[in-house]
Amino acid sequence: MSDISNPLLDRSFPIPFDRITPQDIGPAVAEVLASAGERIDELGAGRGGSYNDVLGALDATTRELSLTWGPVSHLSNVASTPALREAHGEALPEITRFSSRLHHHEGLFKRLHGFAESTAGLALAGLRKRHLDRTLEDFRRAGAELGMHDKQLLEKLRVELAELSRRFEENLLDETASFKKVVPRAEDLAGLPPTALERAAHLAEQKGEDGWLLTLDMPSVQAVLQHADDRGLRREIHGAYLDRCTSGERDNGPLISRILEIRRQLADILGYADFPDYRLETLMASSGARVRRFLDDLIDGTRPFHERDTAQLEARARGSALGDLEPWDVSYLMEKIRKEHFDVDDEMLRPWFPLDEVQAGLFEIAKRLFGLSVAQADNPAVWHPDVGFFEVRDEAGLHLGSFYTDWFPRDSKRQGAWMDNLVSGGPAPGGGFNPHLAFIGGNFSPPTESRPALLTHREVCTLFHEFGHLLHHTCSRVEIPERGGVNVAWDWVEVPSQIMENWCWEREALDLFARHYETGEALPDELLQRLLAARRFMGGWLQMRQLSFANLDLELHRSYGGDTPVMDYAASTMRPFVPSGRFVERHILPSFAHLFAGGYASAYYSYIWSETLEADAFSRFAKGGVLDPEIGRAFRDCILAQGDSRDADELFRDFMGRDPDPAALINRNLGTPPQP
Ligand SMILES: [Zn+2]
Repeated sequence: MSDISNPLLDRSFPIPFDRITPQDIGPAVAEVLASAGERIDELGAGRGGSYNDVLGALDATTRELSLTWGPVSHLSNVASTPALREAHGEALPEITRFSSRLHHHEGLFKRLHGFAESTAGLALAGLRKRHLDRTLEDFRRAGAELGMHDKQLLEKLRVELAELSRRFEENLLDETASFKKVVPRAEDLAGLPPTALERAAHLAEQKGEDGWLLTLDMPSVQAVLQHADDRGLRREIHGAYLDRCTSGERDNGPLISRILEIRRQLADILGYADFPDYRLETLMASSGARVRRFLDDLIDGTRPFHERDTAQLEARARGSALGDLEPWDVSYLMEKIRKEHFDVDDEMLRPWFPLDEVQAGLFEIAKRLFGLSVAQADNPAVWHPDVGFFEVRDEAGLHLGSFYTDWFPRDSKRQGAWMDNLVSGGPAPGGGFNPHLAFIGGNFSPPTESRPALLTHREVCTLFHEFGHLLHHTCSRVEIPERGGVNVAWDWVEVPSQIMENWCWEREALDLFARHYETGEALPDELLQRLLAARRFMGGWLQMRQLSFANLDLELHRSYGGDTPVMDYAASTMRPFVPSGRFVERHILPSFAHLFAGGYASAYYSYIWSETLEADAFSRFAKGGVLDPEIGRAFRDCILAQGDSRDADELFRDFMGRDPDPAALINRNLGTPPQP
């Protein structure tokens, strides 16, 4: 029997986050692993049976494990403490080992195979058949067909890999939190916008310092790099940001080398040519070679725009007496040129984007387009007072799911913005509907004493993006949760999120939320026109930057063999994408959490791959009406509700009535190539 006084074993909805303590982790994990282990042995020893006896029972067992472990991982992202870290770190190898043992359980694998070949198995169709095929594929890909020696080696490597990823993330969090720079005189921060100054003053006050405090969290770094007139200060912050985890106790270099080595070994043991061929086998792109061609084509198409943008930045650096363009000048000069050419910058739009209004507008868009009602709900069981809680219902009032929001930086919280699926619901087997539960959060500029949280336009896009992932999770109507929501091919998963960003650029949509926080005035048309005119500004530079990261990721996993220092290899791989050697003296690798602590290894291309599909899919809204409820419902039914119930290219064809057009991305993001 479960000890439901342990909140990690309590299956009430929503999760009782306020009751979870680090002391609960060890006992909960031990209990759930022990009973899962028994269940797996029973399954492995049994024979015959129906779909529910075999696959259904297996799913129920692994689901228990994710319901226990999900909240632990989530808390380590949003409310990390030394005690939590310790408990998380102790339990992680057990979790990893269990997943390995599950996939290597001979009896279980035989039972699944036996079922697949039985009359009941052969008679399966549709979703259940797909799920059985995918499950067997998961087992095979995890090494179920290998000999004992290789299985043991794989398990050892996977446990080590999980531990290395955890240490990578912790190093990054600690290194980010450890940097503090106190600036005593206001004139040293010339150029910084009032929001950033106010925040820096507030941070200093909190730490008992006089003056202004600069940190390495995103809002602080961006404010300096985009706006500080003092080139030395920009250089210092840029350096500190990219120097994170490059030396000393928290050096991520050795972890990266070892992670890459393990991935090469895994692919080898499993019989693949390289890690990308293993990783991409079940994705839309299907192989490293296909991704290589995809990237090469896009790099070629982007190059003329990138050269144009680089030349413009270099000319501006020379013209403003900076001389050679340096890495810490790029964001600063971009803002300056943008301001001059379009009279618009990131800061001046903030007053029209108060966070609460933006969120309310986003919910209104979800209502008009997808027929969803989102309303704030009471839930005191959260991990921090900043956290919001909302319920989503469909047109018939059915409770589809609930979600948490958490938008401001804290030392105990990881960087970036993300969505987490905490509970995967869907149509219940006996009728009715189990609600989904999820989280969206990020690191936006928080409110100050004198004003509410005001977002930049870029932050608004981020919020819409994460909400797109949330919709994908929450709208899932797939009866088998393992095949529902965001459990889709990795290079399809960013389609619902990235497509949502389009609504941040449409007058009709902006009218629903862009309102001045003091006057209530709508975003003036001439300001919007300037914003739209600037939309493709520096598009070549920015797109090439994304491509350079995707290229680095692919080559690290496809071509790098461990024979040169990994930091040097990364520098030389990035070199063709930047104006001078100075730009690769420091680089993203030691803090590239997507590859070493997230799931993007050899799949970073998936952002731009998804963007190609999404740019094309949005053209249907652009033609038929951006708030057209019929197109919105079609998108919800054909894509958001479907999860992985069918192949992604079929879902795309259902919505568009044709295959994707690869030219859509460059047409939308960059326009007509510049004349040389
Ligand atoms: Zn995303």
